[in-house]
Amino acid sequence: MTIRASCGCLIQNSMLGVPIRFKEYDREGNKSVGYGVFCQYCAKKYEYDEKVIHNEDEEREWVESDYKL
Ligand SMILES: [Zn+2]
Repeated sequence: MTIRASCGCLIQNSMLGVPIRFKEYDREGNKSVGYGVFCQYCAKKYEYDEKVIHNEDEEREWVESDYKL
């Protein structure tokens, strides 16, 4: 069975999806936290771009800091 992951890619099997929380902006341009199941390639890419949120400390840091992507 083929599944479309949150990143838009097709993956062969839901077991191959990587659930991640990530940094994003909402429609008003405010910082928010997204959640989705990504393919392994995109999950690695997000990791490389430092967009992945691993824990609550990182989430707070993202939302409260002036840092922008
Ligand atoms: Zn992908």
